[in-house]
Amino acid sequence: MEENVLSRGQQQVRERVLDAGLCTGCGACIDVCPYFRSYRGRTAVLFPCTVEEGRCFAWCPKINVDLDDLSRRFFGTVYDGAPLGTYQSIATAKAGPAVKKAAFQAGGVVSALTYFALTKGFIDGAVVTDREGLLPVPRFVTNPDDILACASSKYSAAPTLSAVNRAVAEGHGTIGLVGTPCQVLAASQMRFNALQREDFVDPFGLIIGLFCTWAVDYRLFESFLAERVDIANIRKIDIPPPPSEVLQVFGANGDVQEFPLEEIRELVPEGCSYCIDMTSEFSDISVGVLEGRPDMNTLIVRTDRGKQLVDEAVSEGYLEVSPMPAENLEHLAWAAGNKKKRALSRAKEEGMIDCEGAEPLFYLRMGADVLARLTTT
Ligand SMILES: Cc1cc2nc3c(=O)[nH]c(=O)nc-3n(C[C@H](O)[C@H](O)[C@H](O)COP(=O)(O)OP(=O)(O)OC[C@H]3O[C@@H](n4cnc5c(N)ncnc54)[C@H](O)[C@@H]3O)c2cc1C
Ligand code: SF4
Ligand code: SF4
Repeated sequence: MEENVLSRGQQQVRERVLDAGLCTGCGACIDVCPYFRSYRGRTAVLFPCTVEEGRCFAWCPKINVDLDDLSRRFFGTVYDGAPLGTYQSIATAKAGPAVKKAAFQAGGVVSALTYFALTKGFIDGAVVTDREGLLPVPRFVTNPDDILACASSKYSAAPTLSAVNRAVAEGHGTIGLVGTPCQVLAASQMRFNALQREDFVDPFGLIIGLFCTWAVDYRLFESFLAERVDIANIRKIDIPPPPSEVLQVFGANGDVQEFPLEEIRELVPEGCSYCIDMTSEFSDISVGVLEGRPDMNTLIVRTDRGKQLVDEAVSEGYLEVSPMPAENLEHLAWAAGNKKKRALSRAKEEGMIDCEGAEPLFYLRMGADVLARLTTT
């Protein structure tokens, strides 16, 4: 059947994203209508929908993403392809003494800032990602202690934004989101009224983005680990920064098992190889690990709102911040630039990037000069 290129709805998301293997299960299309569902880490379409302009299409981070438009809306400038995006400051940080200890992945900055934001009324609730066994489970929480209970990284893609959709449907707003770069990209598209709806409100009061190089497919990861460890006994999973090249699984009894990253990378879905963002460029604040310091984080402040939250968290003892060593910053920018170049080159080769505004069903749109600069060897 010939595709109706004027329609921007479920059919295009199905054909161009799900059937093309690009979906990374962010959850933006889930629980917004009755038709999309997440089941054990995969996005499924239950029934066909004929709406010609759907929120699934408008929000999906794998189709019709106009980087210039987003960059203008959030930062007032065109997208220039800088490795770490637009930002105000970069520092190292860790949770301060005012925060209760929890099973933080690294320095606990994400949990500390989200906890502080909810406690002090910056946000009315937060969407964070818990786990049941290995399955990441998004939760909308209004009790700050629940944020601490959801600390730690779940390394498979999670339908986190479905919890935003459910919270909005229940009447909640001013939501704080913690998400990976693809989730943050979708969330940034949920923040403006692309479909000109009269009932539109920006649901977010704060977006904290994680760094991400890739995530694993939940089902493949579960079967990989089920053959090697007791999943019910897992306390924490970690991927220490290079040069370690291992995934570590910590058991409840203090035992640690290590698996080579080359085996784990086999479990990464195709969609991640087209992802150009390592540091959640459209967030208020981005957080990642700090090489060589497992008890610390890298903290990027991007917006005035992010700066205000960080400044207040520091002054009230929820966060400790120190300068970023120049060699760490240089390496971070190199890694993020490499990811961008790899993904853009591949997407360009496969005709997935539109620079002219002529192709309605593209993956990314950006300036031709920026694309050429980023993909030149
Ligand atoms: C899939 C994935 C890949 C990552 N890759 C990198 C990387 O390449 N380089 C790097 O520097 N850092 C990476 N990180 C981020 C890093 O693991 C830490 O999350 C980050 O440094 C924050 O540490 P923290 O101690 O402040 O986190 P914590 O205070 O422990 O909080 C972690 C937060 O992450 C949220 N979360 C956990 N899993 C998910 C998920 N799957 N989707 C959405 N939210 C989730 C939780 O809700 C919690 O709020 C990755 C994280 C994930 C989830
Ligand atoms: S990437 Fe996100 S919005 Fe797009 S189809 Fe997958 S789950 Fe839905
Ligand atoms: S690499 Fe990109 S697409 Fe894949 S999980 Fe991370 S942010 Fe999402």
